[in-house]
Amino acid sequence: MRQPFFLIMEDIRNISIEQLEDFLVSIGEKKFRAKQIWSWLWQKGVGSFYEMTNISAALRQQLAASFTFHRTIIAQEANSKDKTAKFAFRLHDGKLVEGVLIPSGERVTACISSQVGCPLGCTFCATGTMGFIRNMHYSEIVDEYVLMDRRARELYGNGISNIVFMGMGEPLLNFNNVMTAIDKLTAKDGWGLSPTRITLSTAGIVKGIKALADRNFPCGLAVSLHSADPAVRQVIMPVTDHNSLHDLQAALVYYHQKTGERITFEYLLLSKVNDTRQAAEKLARYCRPFPVKINIIEYNETKDGLYHRSYPNQREEFIDYLKSCNMVVNVRQSRGQDIAAACGQLVKQG
Ligand code: SF4
Repeated sequence: MRQPFFLIMEDIRNISIEQLEDFLVSIGEKKFRAKQIWSWLWQKGVGSFYEMTNISAALRQQLAASFTFHRTIIAQEANSKDKTAKFAFRLHDGKLVEGVLIPSGERVTACISSQVGCPLGCTFCATGTMGFIRNMHYSEIVDEYVLMDRRARELYGNGISNIVFMGMGEPLLNFNNVMTAIDKLTAKDGWGLSPTRITLSTAGIVKGIKALADRNFPCGLAVSLHSADPAVRQVIMPVTDHNSLHDLQAALVYYHQKTGERITFEYLLLSKVNDTRQAAEKLARYCRPFPVKINIIEYNETKDGLYHRSYPNQREEFIDYLKSCNMVVNVRQSRGQDIAAACGQLVKQG
C-alpha cells in the first residue's frame, strides 16, 4: 500500500517515486515530472534542486520550498604517490567520513564507508578508536560513490569499476540503508552497476549474514576473520563476544548453501598475534566446511597502534602452510599508506 505523503520538509531523497508523484499531482504538476526529478536524483547525482535544468524554475522553487536536500561535499582530498586518493566527505550535519579510490590498470576500486565511526572497536583499527557516531543514510552512501566517480574520471580517465564496503563502519549493522544504497547503485533507473562488482565486508555479524543469505545477496561477501582462535579473536575483535566463531561458521555454512558462493576471508597478519604456524593450522581447520579464498593483508602500523606488521619470513611460512592445504590465498598489496588511506587507517572526527 502506498504510504501517505507528509509535507514536513522531508529530505527529497528519503521518499519513494510514488510519493514524489503524489506530491507533484497535489501541486497541479504532471505526474511524469517525477521520473525526470528521479533521474536527477538517482542517475545524475545532482547536489541541489537548481541543477535540475529540464525542470522549470517555478517547480524547482516549489521543490526547494517543500523538501530539504541533504547534500554531501568533498571536504578534503589527499593524493598518494601510488595514485590512491583519499577523501573526507562532509555530511549535511557536519559529520565527516572517509572514502578511498584505488586505481589499478583500467580498474578503479572505491572503498566506501557505511557508518560515521564504528561501534565494534577492533583493536587494530583506527576507525574503531572513534566509537560509533551514527548510521549513514543510503543517500549519503550513494553520494560517496557519485562524488568519487566524478573525481576518478578526472584523476584516472576512468570511472569507478568496483565498490568495496570496507571503509568506516560495519555495513551489516546499518543493514537497511546499505541494502537500499546497493539497490540504488545497481538499479536500471539508478547507476546500473553490476552487483558482482560490489563487495560487502563484515566483521562477522551472524544475524546479518543469515539475512543476506535469505535475500540471496547478489554481491560479493568478505568476512574479516583475522583469527580462527576464539581467545585471540575476542581480544582483537570484541564483536566475537556476541558473534562467536562457532556461530559465524554456522552462518557461513548457511550462506554457502543458500548462495553457492565461496567464502572470502580477510586476514590481517599481526606479528606474534595471529601469524604463527598454530594460527595457520586453526585457520585451515576453520575453513573446512566451505570453499574459501583467503586474502592476506599486511598490517599498516598507525600512530599509537598496539600491533606490528608480521616479519616477511613469518608471513611466507603462514601462506605456504595454507597453500599446502590447497587453500586459495591472495596477498593484498597495501596502497595509500603515505596518506593514511590503507586498510584500518581511516579515522575522522567531525
Ligand atoms: S575494522 Fe571495520 S568493523 Fe572493526 S572497528 Fe574498524 S571499521 Fe569497525
